[in-house]
Amino acid sequence: MTRTADVVVIGGGQAGLAAGWYLRRLGADFVILDAQATPGGAWQHAWDSLHLFSPAAYSSLPGRLMPRQEGKPFPDVSHVLEYIADYEKRYELPVQRGVHVEAVRDAGELLRVETDRGSWSARAVISATGTWGRPFLPAVPGRSDFRGRQLHTVDHRSPRDFAGQRVIVVGGGNSGAQIAADLAPHATVRWVTRRPARYLPDEIDGRALFELATQRVRDGGPRISDLGDIVTVPPVRAARDAGLIPDHRMFEALTPDGARWPDGTVWPADSVIWCTGFRPALAHLAPLGLRAEAGRIPTEGTRALADPRIHLLGYGDWTGPASATLIGVGRTAREATREIAALLGPVS
Ligand code: FAD
Repeated sequence: MTRTADVVVIGGGQAGLAAGWYLRRLGADFVILDAQATPGGAWQHAWDSLHLFSPAAYSSLPGRLMPRQEGKPFPDVSHVLEYIADYEKRYELPVQRGVHVEAVRDAGELLRVETDRGSWSARAVISATGTWGRPFLPAVPGRSDFRGRQLHTVDHRSPRDFAGQRVIVVGGGNSGAQIAADLAPHATVRWVTRRPARYLPDEIDGRALFELATQRVRDGGPRISDLGDIVTVPPVRAARDAGLIPDHRMFEALTPDGARWPDGTVWPADSVIWCTGFRPALAHLAPLGLRAEAGRIPTEGTRALADPRIHLLGYGDWTGPASATLIGVGRTAREATREIAALLGPVS
């Protein structure tokens, strides 16, 4: 049986819910399909000690301020999960869980959204599937020779899993810095980055990042990436200032027992954690053939250039400034849903 909705939102993390909030306000007929059994998107898989890099009020989805977390200037993951679950319930967003979208196909005037629980036909689709489901691992010589444990950011839970070990943490972004800082009191950590670690000035937190992104959209201004890569959240600042996480340049190869640098230095290791980023999880859109030769789907704002019925939301600056953050996704969701409303015409 094929069900119908004017708009199918694929992904029920923060981006999908933000889209839902605006669609509800517009009176649209929509459904949100999410592969996971419980609310929270990628936040459900974050490591235990992760804290937001912004105060609660600057981590809010449209319509509802995130409440402060007692005793914590920067809320932890449990607080974010509670907030997202409450948001979904409070606004009665029509999320169907445990539904994996396998493909979106062009079916003439409509789009057919095929899932592992039947199909939907829709006049427009918002893809909000995030990146967590597509961890990226660089091609590095010897990776398959290493006999220790290899993990990605997505696999990290607790530093206790590495107690007493020698661990190489690869990656000069926020995940690399935070995981290196998380492990440093428990393990012997060698933090490896391609270029010297670039900390943002200490006063720049997520709120300032959002303001910078806004300013850049409005009237130009520095790119955040020109200022640095790493937000110095309190645990990172503390580890850096204590000299616990010096950064080393990238090794040339993994060996069965560790890593080897171009000058011949070797460092034995029990585990390697790849904090090397993510790619947008977009396999379900493949049948539409939206990709340019270079690989990425060309977009204007969130709209796919090759098919105006398809919007991509929450994948980061690619489709909207700061749209992979709690505070940033609202603005992009508003733009996307406005365009979709114009495409669909007046609500009956
Ligand atoms: P997700 O949360 O990944 O949600 C996507 C949903 O879509 C998931 O539930 C997934 O299961 C589902 N899905 C995927 N594919 C399909 C499919 N084919 N069919 C059906 N469902 C599907 N942001 C901040 O604002 N502040 C921070 O402090 C902050 N810290 C971060 C720290 C780390 C280490 C990371 C990695 C990110 C951080 N972020 C932070 C960024 C951001 O808020 C998250 O990445 C956010 O989860 C992205 O939300 P999303 O809704 O786009 O994607």
